[in-house]
Amino acid sequence: MGLVSSTPLLQDARKNGYGIVAFNVHTLEMLQAVVEAAEETRSPLILQTTVGTVKHLGLDYLVANAKVAAEKASVPIALHLDHCTDFDLLVQCLRAGYTSVMIDASMHPFEENVQRTKRVVEIAKALNVNVEAELGKVGGVEDDIVVDEADALLADPDECKQFVELTGVATLAPAIGTAHGIYKGEPNIDFKRIEEIAKRVQVPLVLHGGSGIPGEQVRRCVSLGMAKMNVATELKNAFSESMKQSFRDNPGELDPRKYMVPAKEVVKQLAKQKMELCGCVGKA
Ligand SMILES: [Zn+2]
Repeated sequence: MGLVSSTPLLQDARKNGYGIVAFNVHTLEMLQAVVEAAEETRSPLILQTTVGTVKHLGLDYLVANAKVAAEKASVPIALHLDHCTDFDLLVQCLRAGYTSVMIDASMHPFEENVQRTKRVVEIAKALNVNVEAELGKVGGVEDDIVVDEADALLADPDECKQFVELTGVATLAPAIGTAHGIYKGEPNIDFKRIEEIAKRVQVPLVLHGGSGIPGEQVRRCVSLGMAKMNVATELKNAFSESMKQSFRDNPGELDPRKYMVPAKEVVKQLAKQKMELCGCVGKA
């Protein structure tokens, strides 16, 4: 059916209390693994790439792969650009066929975040593309965006309401205590804040830093209105660890097909677990 906008998928998820997982993929095998997981579990899927991955693989290669996957799949698939701070690159991604984009202007003051987001919303609306924006600052490292824990800032619920009204954004990623990367201890999620935001904001909410959040905390976030969960680090680590294990088991292996196959399988199984956890299994 081709790539679809993530907006109706996420609206249905928010309305019915489940979450859709957005997986950051970096190679063809990772992309295929999460698509197979979605097919086998009948889950809607968001393929997600950072700006770094767009530069690594090339925009045309990336979109072509995602389009083929979406055309062959019997479940809805959206292609989302994660954490983009560069307006020109974002527009290039829209033109190339991305059906969902995140404009991240969260490092700017509120007013400027509104202006920058609004500009993207206007263009995206004409193309039926979902726009996600961030309020507050999610801590940790995402590509080349680094936010110190001390600088991480939680989103203010009243500002969230104002922000959505002023920008017309289709999905909102409020900083609520999660972080990018792998948690050292347990994440310090402010559930009360999610509740307060969800009361004021009807659009689907997005949970960043989904890697390594304990299962029952993920379920609680989803039940409170987090309709999209981003998983990047855990997937990347699982893929790499599997390859490291293959080389330990067989140091002489020189055929990529030999070590890519188990790595792909590990990613697929992990993706299925995350889908199960977010409750999107059977929702496609
Ligand atoms: Zn993020």
